[in-house]
Amino acid sequence: MSEPASTTRHCDVLIVGGGMAGASLALGLARHAPSLDVAVVESSPLDPSVDPEAQFQPSYDARATALAYGSRLIYEDLGVWPELARAATAIEHIHVSSRGRPGTTRMHASEHGTAALGYVVDNGWLGLNLVSALQNTATHWLCPARVVTAETGRNSAQVLVEQDDRQQWWQARLLVVADGGRSGLREQLGFTASRRDYGQHALVATVTTSAPHGHQAYERFAEGAAVALLPHRGDHDYALVWTMDSAEIERRMALGNDAFLEELQARFGWRQGRFEHVGQRHSYALALEQVVHPVRPGVVLVGNAAHSLHPVAGQGFNLALRGLMRLSSRLGKAAGEPLSLGQPEQLASYVETHQQDVDAIVGFSDGLVRVFSEKSGFPGRLRDIGLAALDAAPGARNWLAHRNMGLNTRRSSLGHD
Ligand SMILES: Cc1cc2nc3c(=O)[nH]c(=O)nc-3n(C[C@H](O)[C@H](O)[C@H](O)COP(=O)(O)OP(=O)(O)OC[C@H]3O[C@@H](n4cnc5c(N)ncnc54)[C@H](O)[C@@H]3O)c2cc1C
Repeated sequence: MSEPASTTRHCDVLIVGGGMAGASLALGLARHAPSLDVAVVESSPLDPSVDPEAQFQPSYDARATALAYGSRLIYEDLGVWPELARAATAIEHIHVSSRGRPGTTRMHASEHGTAALGYVVDNGWLGLNLVSALQNTATHWLCPARVVTAETGRNSAQVLVEQDDRQQWWQARLLVVADGGRSGLREQLGFTASRRDYGQHALVATVTTSAPHGHQAYERFAEGAAVALLPHRGDHDYALVWTMDSAEIERRMALGNDAFLEELQARFGWRQGRFEHVGQRHSYALALEQVVHPVRPGVVLVGNAAHSLHPVAGQGFNLALRGLMRLSSRLGKAAGEPLSLGQPEQLASYVETHQQDVDAIVGFSDGLVRVFSEKSGFPGRLRDIGLAALDAAPGARNWLAHRNMGLNTRRSSLGHD
């Protein structure tokens, strides 16, 4: 039984969820809006005072995220990139192909004058370093603690936080909901999200190939499925993201390791030699979810609580991060203005700019899923022509590479709302 709430505490911004999105926003606010008093409430136990290296157990089974080159620039701006880079694997080349069909396209970092097209980072390493960096800021880090309930008004939000069996009311000028895709608060506050089920699952695991990765990533489409291999830590290790019809997922999750590797080999082919080892497998149901109006008086939704997309293009978190930097920059400006932080007028320009980015990335990822999910017929032929044409047209390839690198929208990502 927790003790009842005592006196109310106050802050300018209260962020619910200190995951990748919430922690990045808190760092963004410390950088772009240092005068604001910010609190983050995170339910999973993470101790920012302990060195990430001592807390992080590098494991073959760790899940990873592909950060676009533009996200590296954002983390440089926030001062955390040098630490993140210590365990990041550069993606220098990307090979996109369609199994058993003619078109392919290749992208190389050297064509864009950058050290890499992107980087693969263990989610655990990313999270710990973000939270550790927060220690050098004035942010209140409430963890492990959980938001039990929240109410919003025109100029503020009231949030009930439970920590160490004690309940405490917080009043914030702005509540930021960053509690992930299964956001309980989103529902509780009455936000509605559109949802389209793809009828697909992603199977995620670390795999080892006989040939070294040489910083080469692959995206290989075959009969309604996509196999993405992202170079990961060891010279022969890849983070695998295999999207497939939901009807296949249970069987593939249950296969013995040898049988699983055989099926993967048959799907992907031999371009990386033999698939020799697979770690623990995880599966995720895939849907496109978007909250139509993510801002209301006193509250804004960010990260997966606001939008989650198909992982085929590895864009979900990169998109969220650009939005978080826009939001922190906007709040930095709003901090010195007479209007209250929580009034929607304050956030109108952020909403408009970020929505354009969301529409473009959702359109791109969703279009990719549609074209590559077709097993035959017109979209299949379109895909062959598209890949071959892309390879032959450097301008279009550059455009695609820049979009994937998060550079098309970079100006607005670093604080120009
Ligand atoms: C298979 C797969 C592969 C992907 N690969 C990529 C990729 O390569 N590149 C990319 O850019 N994106 C990728 N994504 C998307 C990316 O994983 C998400 O965008 C990202 O995890 C969203 O982070 P978040 O912080 O919004 O949510 P979460 O990571 O879910 O964090 C939410 C946090 O809120 C906390 N919380 C929840 N409720 C409460 C509460 N009541 N009180 C306090 N705390 C609470 C949780 O403990 C958690 O820490 C992928 C997604 C999938 C499914």
